[in-house]
Amino acid sequence: MTAFAPDRPLRAAVIGSGPSGIYAADALLKQVQVPVEVDVFDRLPTPYGLVRYGVAPDHLKIKSVTALFQKVLSDARVRFLGNVELGKDLSADDLQAHYDAVIYTVGASSDRRLNVPGEDLGGSLSATEFVAWYNGHPDAAAREMLLHASGVAVVGAGNVALDVARILAKTAGELHDSDIAPHALAALEHSKVEDVYLLSRRGPLQAKFTTKELREFGELAGADVVVLPGEIAVSDEDYAAISDNVVKRNVDVLREFAAKVPQGQPRRVHLRFLVSPVELIGDAGGQVSGIRIEKNRLDEQGNAVGTGEFEVLPVQMVLRSVGYKGVALSGVPFDDKRGVIPNTRGRIEHRSGEYTAGWIKRGPSGVIGTNKADAAETVAALLEDAPNLTPAPQASRAAVDALLAARQVDVVSLEDYLRLDAHELSSGQAAGRPRLKVAHRGAMFDVIRGGR
Ligand code: NAP
Repeated sequence: MTAFAPDRPLRAAVIGSGPSGIYAADALLKQVQVPVEVDVFDRLPTPYGLVRYGVAPDHLKIKSVTALFQKVLSDARVRFLGNVELGKDLSADDLQAHYDAVIYTVGASSDRRLNVPGEDLGGSLSATEFVAWYNGHPDAAAREMLLHASGVAVVGAGNVALDVARILAKTAGELHDSDIAPHALAALEHSKVEDVYLLSRRGPLQAKFTTKELREFGELAGADVVVLPGEIAVSDEDYAAISDNVVKRNVDVLREFAAKVPQGQPRRVHLRFLVSPVELIGDAGGQVSGIRIEKNRLDEQGNAVGTGEFEVLPVQMVLRSVGYKGVALSGVPFDDKRGVIPNTRGRIEHRSGEYTAGWIKRGPSGVIGTNKADAAETVAALLEDAPNLTPAPQASRAAVDALLAARQVDVVSLEDYLRLDAHELSSGQAAGRPRLKVAHRGAMFDVIRGGR
C-alpha cells in the first residue's frame, strides 16, 4: 500500500497538453483523496494542442477555453514542459522512473486515407495537413500551399470538412478577423478558388457535421451555397422518424439552402450528397486535374453502395477529410487497426501506472468538452489504483530537470509560452487582428528567449 503524502505527493506525468491532457491535470487537481504534482509535457513549444492547431481560426469563441486551461497550468502543483518529445528527449522508461503515474493524451495526429487511385497526385492532401498549415503548426509552416486551383474537392461530411471548405470560401476580409496564420492569410488572399465541392458519401441523415457549422455556409460574404434537392430528398415518413435534433435541423437547413437562388457570388460551395470519389485524375505534370465520383444509394444498413453512375468534377486540389488517426508512441502498447492505445476505462492494458485519455484512448470523436468526462474517467481509475501504485524511484521535479538538462533539451515553461502569447496578441492588435500567430519554431524561440 503506497501512502502518498504532502511531502511525497503522487507525481503524475501527462503527455500532451491538448484538451484531454489539461482536463486530466484539472481532474487530478480537483480531487482531494491524494496530494498530487503534475508535469504536463508537449512536444511543441506551445500548449493546448488541437485548440491552437485544430480549431478553425474563425471559431475564436471555441478557443476561449484556453483561459481555463491556462489556470490549470498556472496551479502551483502543475508545471508545463514544452518542447520535450517522447521517444526523442524522453523514453517511456524514463517516465516510469520519474513518475508514479503516466497519462498519455497525445490525440490523433495522422489521418485516414481514401484508398482510391491517384490519391498521391500533386494537389491531393489531407485536411489534417491543410488545417495544420492555416493554423500555423510549426511542422507545416514551411509548406508551400499551391492555391492556383479554381476547383477544390473536400471529401467527408464531418465538421473538419466543413471547416476546411468554409476557410477556402471565405473572403480575405472575413479571414482578417480570424487568427489564421499570417502566411496562410497571405496565400488565401490570392487564392483562385471559385468552386468548393464538399463530398458526402451518404445522405443528409447520416452526415456527421453539426447544424451551427452547417448554417455558416448561408452567411458567407462572397460565396453562394449550392445544394441539389434530389441529393437531400428525405420522405415525410423518414423526416417524421428522425429522433436526433441535430440531424433534423441539418435537414431543415439543407432544405433552405436547396431553395436558395444563387446570388452570382464569385465563389460557390457545393454541398453534394450520396457521392464517393473513385479516382483522382492527373494531368501530364502529375497534378490533380479532376475527381471521378460515383453516385451512391443507401443499403438497408445505411451504408453507401455505388450505382455505377459516374461524374467528373473539374478540381485541381483534393482535401480528404475522412477522419483523424492515432499514431503509435515508442514503448507504449498500440492497437494499429483502431489507432488507439488499448485500454479499459483509461487503464492501459497489461500495464501498471500507465493511463490514457482523449482521442488516443477512444478514437477521434466528440467536441472539446467531450474530453472532460473522458479524462475524468481515466483519473478516477488512476485514483482507484493509487494505493497500489509502485512508487517511482526518482520522483522529484529536480530529477526530471536534471535529466532534461543533461540531454540539453530547451524546455519551454508556461512563463516562456506566455511571453509568446503576449507577443502574438500585441502584434495582432497592432495589425487589427485577434492574434498574429508565430508559426516557425525558430521565430517562436526568438520571442521566447528574446528577453534573455
Ligand atoms: P468525423 O466527424 O468522424 O467525420 C468523418 C467523415 O468522413 C464522415 O462523414 C465519414 O462518413 C466520412 N468518411 C470516412 N471514410 C470515408 C471515405 N472512405 N469516403 C468518403 N467519406 C468518408 O471526423 P472529423 O470531421 O475529422 O471530426 C473529428 C471530430 O472533431 C468530430 O467529433 C467532430 O465533430 C469534431 N470537430 C468539431 C468541430 C466543431 O465543433 N466546430 C470542428 C471540427 C471537428 P461516414 O459517416 O459515411 O463514415
